[in-house]
Amino acid sequence: MRRYEPEQIEPRWQRVWADERTWEVPNAAEPGHGGIEPARSYVLEMLPYPSGEPHMGHLKCYAIGDALAHFRRRRGERVLHPMGYDAFGLPAENHAIRTGRHPRESTDASIAEFRRQFRSWGISIDWSRELGTHEPEYYRWTQWLFLRLFEQGLAYRRDAAVKWCPTDETVLANEQAKDGVCERCGTPVEARQLEQWFFRITDYADALLDDLETVDWPDHVRTMQRNWIGRSEGAEVVFRCDELGVDYPVFTTRPDTLFGATFFVLAPEHPDVLRLNDSPAVRDYVNHALAASAEDRGLEQREKTGVALGRTVTNPVNGEQIPMFVADYVLMEYGTGAIMAVP
Ligand SMILES: [Zn+2]
Repeated sequence: MRRYEPEQIEPRWQRVWADERTWEVPNAAEPGHGGIEPARSYVLEMLPYPSGEPHMGHLKCYAIGDALAHFRRRRGERVLHPMGYDAFGLPAENHAIRTGRHPRESTDASIAEFRRQFRSWGISIDWSRELGTHEPEYYRWTQWLFLRLFEQGLAYRRDAAVKWCPTDETVLANEQAKDGVCERCGTPVEARQLEQWFFRITDYADALLDDLETVDWPDHVRTMQRNWIGRSEGAEVVFRCDELGVDYPVFTTRPDTLFGATFFVLAPEHPDVLRLNDSPAVRDYVNHALAASAEDRGLEQREKTGVALGRTVTNPVNGEQIPMFVADYVLMEYGTGAIMAVP
């Protein structure tokens, strides 16, 4: 029996697939579609970041997706298995800095290498649909979508605390600020209030929660989703800080407990924290809180910490003054970033 020599056999078939465009799936109105409509199937792995060369993790991920695509084709389904590159953002920026090349150049070089390896691995991709998120013909549509959201008031700007590297003078993503220092230069990360863009996802909380009941997902994934979407049934109650003349809405599922509220807590990201108190102790606490992940901060068993802000708000039901704190177990992503505490 002859030994299987991949470098002899595989390029031959890869050439046939390329010449015959075996994995291309035409749209309904295009030639080659044939008019018949078998069961349709869409196989999409997470798109790679073109910030370096493919590694074993890529091979693992795309080999599994490829097996699924082939399995469905064998069952007679029309399988769309496209490929693209998630080219904007920090990995691409870091790659350009590391290689000292223009990001456009280093990104294109990385994409060429992904393309070459996908072909040599024999992954069954419809190359006629290849895309890169940095290409104008792609991002004109993300811009178009953004403008529709903006016109509807669903995209808006607001002050929010971000992680900031004073040496690089740039905002850092969570992944770029490991253990409270900038991954590029090692400078301790600071909190800064900057205007940020947000989507008004909370407007759709009820619809999202309802539809979550209809999907066939594992329980822990659904719980995670439910926590992200946030609570939807309850009441918004306003606490006023008279010293600053600012109203703080809080969302509560138990408005009946209002009389028992003994203190008031803001999330470290809340835009007013440093306005209420910018002492070193508060700044330090906020900086540390921002260095921790939201998942860690939300853990039930995590020890609760906080710093007094030296201000009070008025409990709307009995006029009582209750002290304000900043504490990292309150997350800005959920609700209003402020809670009343009922022990
Ligand atoms: Zn830095």
